[in-house]
Amino acid sequence: MIKISSSYGLLKPLVEGKFVDVDHDRVLPTYDPGLGRQIGEVPVMKNVDEAVQSAARAFEKWSRLPVYERLQYLVKLKIVFEQRLEEMAHLIAQNVGKTKQEAMGELRRAVESIDMALAAPHLMAEVRKVMNIAQAEPEIDMETVKEPLGVFAVITPFNFPVMIPMWFIPLAVTLGDTVVLKPSEQDPVPALYMASLFVEAGYPPGVLNVVLGDGSTAETLIKHRDVVGVAFVGSTRVGSQVYALAAAHGKRALVGAGAKNPVVVMPDADMKNAVENIATGFFVMAGQRCLAPGNLILVGEAYDKFKNAIVERVKKIRVGYQLLDTTDMGPVISAASKKRISDMITRAAEAGAEVLVDGRSYSPPREYAEGFYLGPTVLDKVAIDMEIAQEEVFGPVLPIIRAESFEEAVEIANKTRYGNAASIFTSSGRYAREFARRVNAGNVGINMSIAQPTPHFPFGGRKQSFFGVLHAQVDAVDFFTDRKVIMQRWW
Ligand code: NAD
Repeated sequence: MIKISSSYGLLKPLVEGKFVDVDHDRVLPTYDPGLGRQIGEVPVMKNVDEAVQSAARAFEKWSRLPVYERLQYLVKLKIVFEQRLEEMAHLIAQNVGKTKQEAMGELRRAVESIDMALAAPHLMAEVRKVMNIAQAEPEIDMETVKEPLGVFAVITPFNFPVMIPMWFIPLAVTLGDTVVLKPSEQDPVPALYMASLFVEAGYPPGVLNVVLGDGSTAETLIKHRDVVGVAFVGSTRVGSQVYALAAAHGKRALVGAGAKNPVVVMPDADMKNAVENIATGFFVMAGQRCLAPGNLILVGEAYDKFKNAIVERVKKIRVGYQLLDTTDMGPVISAASKKRISDMITRAAEAGAEVLVDGRSYSPPREYAEGFYLGPTVLDKVAIDMEIAQEEVFGPVLPIIRAESFEEAVEIANKTRYGNAASIFTSSGRYAREFARRVNAGNVGINMSIAQPTPHFPFGGRKQSFFGVLHAQVDAVDFFTDRKVIMQRWW
């Protein structure tokens, strides 16, 4: 088991219940983004066959266990998981760059995913889509049963290295499938720790395997003959490729992708709550959330009323090393990401945006000088057709767009290629209802800038924020199982 350290050396994947040395032709560095220091090496496995074979062998027995027996492993997992929240939060903060408090928030959601999966027998027996007709034809009864399908690949992004794998794994394995996880190469340490808790909980070898590597490793996994489907979460660029690759190889796919979530503020919004919720919402996890607000649309008088108050609140955000208690916002994930975000801000300014708060000028104290820091940035006079308003920034940037009316705000809100989430701040039930109906997004927040459904709801997403039919969280019950129709006649 990984212990908190300043260096983890060459990381080991989990195959057949053991963390093993593997052949690899190169390694990738993984960092503490707040120190800008390498803390481990990630082997790029080209050969994932052993891990898939192990999962395929495990499936034979595992899928035939009574669901109540599989549930006992999950109960044990919940116990060990909750005992290790502190260490896990530390590893997440260290490897991702988010604060310990943000890491704890991530883990609370991971525990909720276990709670949802604890309902697996109920979810399998659910009347929805499970059918039976006695005497459907003369002397013939017909019924459907939900069955697990085999080995699933789970491929996850850097920003929630534990929560997103936990959206899928507890549910998939309790339903009887087995899983090969490929965490992000940028920060695989917390996911490996999480996987060790499955071993500690006593899961049979092979029920969960973890492979390490980059996109090439993920592609090999998706194409593998014995992988029946892929649950992927990541950028739209990669997600659309994964969806196409899965289809080309006859695999089912559930793909959560990028976002650009609009937040509309009406003049009648509750001032105090809206300012606090919006100013912090944009900068939680340095903006590296698929549910992070992407554009702030201030309607009519809301522009004068809210703009300055939001700017003043944003200026109070304390940027710093993620493991210090005095830090509100940590670094971004990598030097490349920092450069990409800075360049987007520069291009926005060149395109006519006014830089009200400039995060590019933030400089950390000397001991953190190598860290990947950016301060919060606020941009005014942004137009919806600018790159900064159209593309996902995935960084601490708040673009302000002015709209003259509710109608115009809805139009702007719907004018990107993404549809993950959308929010409105208002004290009018009519505007709230109209907005919820007319905005083309999978998750809608009323008076909240981050609209995250708990695991008992599907995790929505439309347009290029999602590819597939069945969503993450509870919807994935139907993704990880298939209905078989059994017709029987006895005489
Ligand atoms: P990414 O797309 O760069 O990487 C995600 C995963 O895909 C990683 O494990 C990576 O190794 C793998 N990958 C890379 N190339 C691949 C290929 N060719 N084939 C298969 N897999 C490949 O994303 P990221 O930067 O780690 O994460 C940030 C993105 O994730 C953002 O766009 C964010 O909006 C999105 N995200 C979406 C949701 C959601 O639920 N919709 C949730 C969290 C994050």
